[in-house]
Amino acid sequence: MNYRAVWVLFLIGTMVLSCKKETAKDLKKEVKPESSLVFDKGEKITNANFVGNAWLEMLVHADSINRNSVGSVTFEPGARTNWHTHPNGQIILVIDGEGFYQEKGSPKKILRKGEVVKCPANTPHWHGASTEQTFIQVAITSRVAGPTVWLEPVTDEVYMGSVE
Ligand code: MN
Repeated sequence: MNYRAVWVLFLIGTMVLSCKKETAKDLKKEVKPESSLVFDKGEKITNANFVGNAWLEMLVHADSINRNSVGSVTFEPGARTNWHTHPNGQIILVIDGEGFYQEKGSPKKILRKGEVVKCPANTPHWHGASTEQTFIQVAITSRVAGPTVWLEPVTDEVYMGSVE
């Protein structure tokens, strides 16, 4: 085999190897993160009741018989709700990531995947992502006594406050 033939074989070999590597990397990138998510991310929330970027996927609309609404909310790091109250309280299921939950007058709590919060009725509170991680929650909210009452935004100072 002459020098030229060896060079051509080397080039073809390099191309084949690089193609294979690229395909394997692409598959890993596309499949792995998506497969760990339980619900769709939903629509970006554009109302003024949130600070930062958050998305809502409505899972169940309340009706006259089952008066709970259920929604999955995805918060980017730093994103959070404004202060608010629920006339019947709320149940928060932590689906993924790390978040914060705080009731007025109490220290902030860290929420991690698998944890559940039962938020009392008519108690001002907020919830959202931690500074470093995306946070996904499913909120179950009874609509028997009326809608959520939205209050003022959570300031950066409160958001960055000490943890319980
Ligand atoms: Mn709430």
